[in-house]
Amino acid sequence: MERIQGKAIFHGIAIGKLSVYGKKRQRVKRQKAACAEHEKERYFTARDQAAAQLREIYKKAVQEVGELNAQIFQVHAMMLEDDDYNESVLNMIATQGVNAEYAVAKTGDNFAEMFAAMEDEYFKARSADIRDISDRVLAALTGAGPAAVMTEPVILAAYDLAPSETIQLDKRLLLAFVTEVGSTNSHTAILARSMNIPALTGIRLSEDWDGKPAAVDGDTGTLYIEPDEAVLETLRRKQKEHEDARALLLELKNKETITGDGRKVHLYANIGSTGDLASVLENDAEGIGLFRTEFLYLEKDHFPTEQEQFQAYKTVVETMAGRKVIFRTLDIGADKQVDYFGLDKEENPAMGYRAIRICLDRTDIFKTQLRAILRASAYGSLAIMFPMIISKQEILEAKRILEQIRLELEQEGLPYRDVEVGIMIETPAAAIISDELAGEVDFFSIGTNDLTQYVLAADRQNPKLDACYDAHHPAVLRLIEQVVQNGHAGGAWVGICGELGADTSLTEWFVQIGVDELSVTPSMVLPVRKVIRDIGRT
Ligand code: PEP
Ligand code: MG
Repeated sequence: MERIQGKAIFHGIAIGKLSVYGKKRQRVKRQKAACAEHEKERYFTARDQAAAQLREIYKKAVQEVGELNAQIFQVHAMMLEDDDYNESVLNMIATQGVNAEYAVAKTGDNFAEMFAAMEDEYFKARSADIRDISDRVLAALTGAGPAAVMTEPVILAAYDLAPSETIQLDKRLLLAFVTEVGSTNSHTAILARSMNIPALTGIRLSEDWDGKPAAVDGDTGTLYIEPDEAVLETLRRKQKEHEDARALLLELKNKETITGDGRKVHLYANIGSTGDLASVLENDAEGIGLFRTEFLYLEKDHFPTEQEQFQAYKTVVETMAGRKVIFRTLDIGADKQVDYFGLDKEENPAMGYRAIRICLDRTDIFKTQLRAILRASAYGSLAIMFPMIISKQEILEAKRILEQIRLELEQEGLPYRDVEVGIMIETPAAAIISDELAGEVDFFSIGTNDLTQYVLAADRQNPKLDACYDAHHPAVLRLIEQVVQNGHAGGAWVGICGELGADTSLTEWFVQIGVDELSVTPSMVLPVRKVIRDIGRT
């Protein structure tokens, strides 16, 4: 038995046969071509074929993972039109007299390496997209079939899985997947979570594994090759426990989130895109307490237009069918960098030019987003909240711009509804002056992820500071309690949307101090509901 430790992308247990996909990747030979014009024609035909396939995949992906996540395939189709990419292929054919396959493979490698060398995590991840489109054109040139063909249930192992490969996998036959590379920022990781199967990354692959029995523990991030009977028994027991716990939790669907002594808590879910909606509904969240709208910007290579945003926001609101959706306005900056914003490199980005600071400065970007959100309000129930607030002035300014947008829509005869306006309490400043801020808003949503890092001066991105980054620190907990009291005293309701909201060891305390709403990752909705319903009943 071999035991390999990786990093978990998604939890759960899978036991089955391994299928190693990397070895099926084609090797391309450099050959002298008899006629450059003929090779160019072959390239154009293959490229058109690849574009047609991508259009089909896009349609399938819209159905399966929602429009936002599917957009990557439109981006891939656009990449095929990219002048630099095309010129590189055609130039190699013309000047080096090589076959189209070689020109495509070499261009793909060159561009992928260029992206991989970039510092920005987002652009690093685009390297996989370039390889993906080049592989697709190559497959069309050589007449090869689709990448990973599965005929039986398997644990798929791959060096890397590109988004279009991930989406094409037959989910009914996919028990789990493990990859050697891939960041948690990549589209593949986002898609993996929405597929709801165990997934690991950081696993160094070996082609000898193909066909061998294996097991994936997505809870601990471990892959077992040829697991022995003792490991299998433990994992089967864990699997059964997962299933039993899940079955019990599913009984809580459609039940109220209320304590035994009648205290109601609004239990909402956090999302980053429309692709997360299926899991929100499956886990019976009562609303969306944090829609991280910046992911829409992260997935694109240009500022999303008002119409693009409106379509995405409308989908979310319509799908939630009258349940509340809290839109957090753009929280770009810090770890979420988008190249087309053209932001300067900063010494200390977490404490830098980000979120509301950018929005109040670049009002063109902010206004476009507010128009799209307000227009979507006509289709359901939504609220708006502003991130990274530190002062009353920022709230007044943001509300002034929102009012301006409301009047614009009024004048243009575009429908909208009144929306609640809130702020995230995620800076010590906002928490400390929350008594003064409460009167300006309808609600507070406590962002414990950032609040913890700023209160404890411990960078949330730095794994070396795991021990310092303690969201249970009394300084953090005391601030949370004060914010709830100040919010209520000033007439604002108070929720928690940071990761701490899903920490069931604190749920009872949250209820005791009067937290009105908890917004958690979708898979934690039912576990938190269980804890709340058990309060005062046992
Ligand atoms: C937070 O800071 O707690 C929060 C919810 O926002 P994000 O994790 O997106 O920074
Ligand atoms: Mg935050």
